[in-house]
Amino acid sequence: MICPTCQREIADYSNFCYFCGTRQAPGVAGRRLMRSVVDSKIAGVCGGFAEYFNWDPTVTRVLFVFITIGTGFAPGIVAYIVAWILMPQAPYLSSPAGATHTATPGGGSR
Ligand SMILES: [Zn+2]
Repeated sequence: MICPTCQREIADYSNFCYFCGTRQAPGVAGRRLMRSVVDSKIAGVCGGFAEYFNWDPTVTRVLFVFITIGTGFAPGIVAYIVAWILMPQAPYLSSPAGATHTATPGGGSR
């Protein structure tokens, strides 16, 4: 791909330009597991997993709840807290769905 700032060829998977240091727009290759800010009920962990694996966020949550109940609550809750701590929070508008869920303060009129 071509760096939009300095117009030089860089590797497709690189997150930063080697020449000018510009952060490249996150594509599919640069996708990371991050907590979702646009699709979160508690901390965005399930939404983040759903975005990363291209799952339905609701299905992901339902499955997570069932697994948590099925394993006696503690493993699921501990896993959620660990993921909450370890997963970085996604920047706003990182996902294509962010366009429909703009988190503008003072909005909310429909
Ligand atoms: Zn560059």
